[in-house]
Amino acid sequence: MPDVQLVLRSTRVITPEGTRAASIAVSGGTIAAVLPYDAEVPAGARLEDFGDDVVLPGLVDTHVHVNDPGRTEWEGFWTATRAAAAGGITTLLDMPLNSLPPTTTVEHLRVKQDVARTKAHIDVGFWGGALPDNVKDLRPLFDAGVFGFKCFLSPSGVDEFPELNQDQLATSLAEIAGFGGLMIVHAEDPHHLAAAPQKSGAKYADFLASRPRDAENTAVQNLIDQARRLNARVHVLHLSSSDALPLIAAAKAEGVKITVESCPHFLTLTAGEVPDGATEFKCCPPIREASNQDALWEGLADGTIDCIVSDHSPSTADLKTGDFASAWGGISSLQLGLPAIWTEARRRGHGLDDVVRWMSAAPARLAGLARKGAIEAGRDADFAVLAPDETFTVDPAGLQHRNRVTAYAGRTLYGVVKSTWLRGERIHDGGELAEPSGLLLGRND
Ligand SMILES: [Zn+2]
Repeated sequence: MPDVQLVLRSTRVITPEGTRAASIAVSGGTIAAVLPYDAEVPAGARLEDFGDDVVLPGLVDTHVHVNDPGRTEWEGFWTATRAAAAGGITTLLDMPLNSLPPTTTVEHLRVKQDVARTKAHIDVGFWGGALPDNVKDLRPLFDAGVFGFKCFLSPSGVDEFPELNQDQLATSLAEIAGFGGLMIVHAEDPHHLAAAPQKSGAKYADFLASRPRDAENTAVQNLIDQARRLNARVHVLHLSSSDALPLIAAAKAEGVKITVESCPHFLTLTAGEVPDGATEFKCCPPIREASNQDALWEGLADGTIDCIVSDHSPSTADLKTGDFASAWGGISSLQLGLPAIWTEARRRGHGLDDVVRWMSAAPARLAGLARKGAIEAGRDADFAVLAPDETFTVDPAGLQHRNRVTAYAGRTLYGVVKSTWLRGERIHDGGELAEPSGLLLGRND
């Protein structure tokens, strides 16, 4: 075994083979070995004993809107990565839109990387964007290290990031499939959205009716058809409509290269509990009924849904007006995803090992992050230390998000993240955050 500097010990370490008492030997920021609990600590190594607190692999959040530069008043790499670290996340991938510029050319990617470099408290990677007019930029972006490409099929909410129609989707998808890339898709069909009743105001039911399940179901079916035809690899972002689950399950069964994510808000919040005017609950697609949520959990349990990621998409508080039609759509949850999901998962009889699979292993696999997502020899020594039976009540003032508007305010959640570790260094300890030490990751790093 290489020179070991650090040993982390707990009665509950979540490994790919299950949860067990273990000692994790760390050398040069990498997990050197997962040893028996009472293994002798090598001479010169420091021991950190967490008792019965759970050590899990640092979470990987592949869906975060950092908005930096350009809309840094909405969030930013400094605040986003601090919030992530406080929430047990050690790697995030930034979405290509809502920053200015959007990540749609190599030049724009460089601008974003330059901004992120000195602010990243955790490891950060980037998705590229697929627009109607940037097909020629996709291959250079891929070669420059983006993890894949995001597109919209309906208006994105910002003018500089237009959606693709079905022909444009086919063109971009064929290009991306040609070099073995991944297309990640905001799947709502614009025709179904246009046909739905559009009523402004404070009533959540009106907003929900404006973003019907059919819009998602149709967009997912079209995407499946295109992926099959082009033998392309696609990923459905933020699935809300459970009606699309049978379509996805059937596509997977026939070998279509499709994966799916859902988000803490769809899995822990329901339409019936959204107060009038509470646009901190607004996102697209929307939070739906309790019965829909039950079906999404079944989709997680049977593997139709691969992963859970935040879709953290904040704005300044003034854009969260009381009108659901015009308020900014996006929910802030970066720091709260783990306890929110764990609280609901345990209620439904799932274990922390399931949560780790959905929030660390599967997103790491989606992005091809071979050094992330598991506690085993050869991976980065990235960990979250969690007290799973401790509760806390969400106080927005205690969040590291730049804007502390959140749909989770006042909720009592299980799971306190005691500390977070990045490549063997403690980056968060009981709410205290270390100086930035995150790296900018590229595909295949
Ligand atoms: Zn998003």
